[in-house]
Amino acid sequence: MKSMLLRGLAPLTENPIPLTYVDIPEPTLASGEVLVRVSACGVCHTELDEIEGRTPPPHLPVVLGHQAVGVIEEGKGKGQRVGVAWIASACGECEYCKSGQENLCAQFQATGRDVDGGYAKYTKVRADFVHPIPEAFSDVEAAPLLCAGAIGYRSLRLSNLRDGGNLGLMGFGGSNHLVLKMTNYQFPNTKVFVFSRNPEEREFALSLGAAWAGEIDGVPPEALDAVIDTTPVWGPDLEALKRLKPGGRLVINAIRKQETDKQVLTTLDYPSQLWMEKEIKSVANVTRADVREFLELAAQAGIKPEFQEYDLKDANQALLEMKQGKIRGTKVLKV
Ligand SMILES: [Zn+2]
Ligand SMILES: [Zn+2]
Repeated sequence: MKSMLLRGLAPLTENPIPLTYVDIPEPTLASGEVLVRVSACGVCHTELDEIEGRTPPPHLPVVLGHQAVGVIEEGKGKGQRVGVAWIASACGECEYCKSGQENLCAQFQATGRDVDGGYAKYTKVRADFVHPIPEAFSDVEAAPLLCAGAIGYRSLRLSNLRDGGNLGLMGFGGSNHLVLKMTNYQFPNTKVFVFSRNPEEREFALSLGAAWAGEIDGVPPEALDAVIDTTPVWGPDLEALKRLKPGGRLVINAIRKQETDKQVLTTLDYPSQLWMEKEIKSVANVTRADVREFLELAAQAGIKPEFQEYDLKDANQALLEMKQGKIRGTKVLKV
């Protein structure tokens, strides 16, 4: 079958290209697994991190891709349209799995990292780890909801925001633009303040209903109850802490931060940035419930992602454009 295969880790540049378009054998199913014929797969910033070695390393060679939509061709639920998300499996028996926190399970396995994912014609997955896709969405529309949307939803939940509270979004790419849409639906009286270094993203945010959009170190007209940060660096977190109200919470939605500006953390000013019960919380992975709840809510709310389509074989191009910051919404591969 056709696939885009990652053989080794390296910085993503135009030359050499990281993924190669090659034929590989179709997956063979173990008991309890299903074979999904992929029609669309979203491109995620985490894949950049995988390629460039900022996450726990994938098994190699690996088929990346953890936002796959397709039809079950073999196994339980044959003929059903499903999505495959970042959570490929968890143990089901530990304290985390038993308390609805399977995202924190020590045995957590990620699609497109620990097992092959959706940058290919077929992918296999455990039957209890596929997600039904609401009819409201086409395959390409549903793909970015599976990670960008689901983890954005989890971030919003972990932010403790209540309706009417002020929300800040640091960075405005694939995930945070869906958080803004979700916030408009779930918290109609909340004002959203967007911080981005990219003027196009700021304009995009205002067009989606943000109350204000400014630079990363911009000063919004009101203090914030919560901030969700999706940037790969630390500077924005220190800025976010300054903007929080007493008792406010900063949620960091990033699998790894770059080392490049780590030294800014030594400038943390306790009185203005952490005192008064301000909190910092990271968001790790997703649970199946996050994915399914978000898909249902997004269908009810009429939320659709903004995305650009690419052919599977142009995955390198899509990733490179993502790295260069040429993002409006998200990117989806047509398989
Ligand atoms: Zn992702
Ligand atoms: Zn577990």
